[in-house]
Amino acid sequence: MQTALPTAMWIDGEWAQASGGRTATHTSPRCGETAQVASADEVDVERAIQGAKRAFRSRVWAGLEPRERGEALIRWADLLDRHRDELAFLVAYEMGKPVTIAWNVEMRTAINTVRWYGELADKLMDESPRGRNGAVALVTREPVGVVGIITPWNFPMTLAMFKIPAALVAGNSVVAKPASQTPFSLLRAAELAFEAGIPPGVLQVITGSGAKVGEQLGMHDDIATLAFTGSTDVGKQLLSYAGASNAKPVWLELGGKSPNIVFPDAPDLDRAASMAAWAVSFNSGQMCTAGSRLVVHEDIREEVVAKVVDNLSAAVIGDPLDPATTLGPLAYAAHRDDVLAEIRKGIDSGAKLVLGSDAGRDDGLYVDPAVFVDVDPDSRLAQHEIFGPVLAVHSFRTEEEALAIANNTVFGLGSSVWTADLSRAHRMARGIDAGMVWINCYEEGDSSVPFGGRKLSGHGADRSNHGLDKYTHLKTTWIEL
Ligand code: NAP
Repeated sequence: MQTALPTAMWIDGEWAQASGGRTATHTSPRCGETAQVASADEVDVERAIQGAKRAFRSRVWAGLEPRERGEALIRWADLLDRHRDELAFLVAYEMGKPVTIAWNVEMRTAINTVRWYGELADKLMDESPRGRNGAVALVTREPVGVVGIITPWNFPMTLAMFKIPAALVAGNSVVAKPASQTPFSLLRAAELAFEAGIPPGVLQVITGSGAKVGEQLGMHDDIATLAFTGSTDVGKQLLSYAGASNAKPVWLELGGKSPNIVFPDAPDLDRAASMAAWAVSFNSGQMCTAGSRLVVHEDIREEVVAKVVDNLSAAVIGDPLDPATTLGPLAYAAHRDDVLAEIRKGIDSGAKLVLGSDAGRDDGLYVDPAVFVDVDPDSRLAQHEIFGPVLAVHSFRTEEEALAIANNTVFGLGSSVWTADLSRAHRMARGIDAGMVWINCYEEGDSSVPFGGRKLSGHGADRSNHGLDKYTHLKTTWIEL
């Protein structure tokens, strides 16, 4: 399917060009085709923030019954579903995800999350504990005001929808900034939100350079809360912007280097190996939760690595718009170059490359999956988030060794353990210092379950009831009767 690319910003319920007509060039990783997209400057960001503030103050959205906000979100989910082909195309076009995966995984999760928060709207209860002498306390949640949301390019729809509907259902207005690589899908989704009845100004989408627009959002006193998904370096910068301005809370979902630990008693070694291959290559490895460290027991190392290599070798690499493709290009040329450079550094470090190469391909931004064995757990290959289909394999003898390797990282996002021993599964789950542990599976998730990390992977989970915490203030009111 082909569709027009939305190239203007979505501000106050209509398309808006940047002041002075400023644009930036977007290049599709699929075919190298270019398009001009509005590039906000200070005036435009200010306009979007002030429009969101006006909408919030007018109570046109915050003042609705929760059920009415929920119904609007559900209508939005329905519209996203009705336009699923188009949105999946936009995702595939803008960042190279195979369209089948964009449709089946990215859009399914995005739509489900919007609907889930819509359905939650009228089920949120306040608390009223009792105090001394019959006094009653009301513990109520209030929207924070204007929420800034900054998202990355690897899951442009899903990650935006982990945040936006949660902020909206609480009654806030949102100013969202997608990554420069992925403006189109979120712009179109914002137009559909308006069509669903979400009033003008309540969801603004601005496009432009992260360094400029992101800094302005981070430094702005009218942004009450900032929610960010992206790299650890930019996350740290946002914390400093908050410290230099209104001390706004900054919620961070950052990078990862997730361990995938396989014991000899894994219930199904074939499945463990195929999931290990999936975990490092899904979305061409551009996944914060990528299982980029395979930690496998010495006795089964050769067998498991051989199976992982077989699985990775079966990937269908090619045009993201071909429904048969399982592995698309990397999202942009500089990122492809970085990933190939990391493979080169791995080779130079003395780790043994058993699959892939540092050569890349002439026919596009594709990187063949790479597997390194004999990787020093302290080396760059084992420590640095590569964000491409590159696997570092380590081996261990004891549970303690496996845990030590797993926790030998500055990150703490995902992790996986393959074992049939329930007691060991519990011991490992308790011992791993990460926000999510998958036992005998990888990347399970649901709207009702928090998604998030710790350490340099961030804090403050998205999804579930807990995902609302960051978008509400708690207020305590004491009433003496
Ligand atoms: P990134 O470079 O940090 O960019 C993320 C967003 O921040 C983009 O919208 C970017 O805009 C913006 N930005 C860049 N510089 C900024 C600044 N100085 N101030 C404010 N905003 C700024 O990350 P990415 O390369 O897009 O995404 C990959 C990273 O995201 C990886 O580290 C990955 O692990 C992480 N990630 C984490 C999760 C999670 O849930 N934990 C999920 C997915 C991805 P521009 O595009 O315009 O530069």
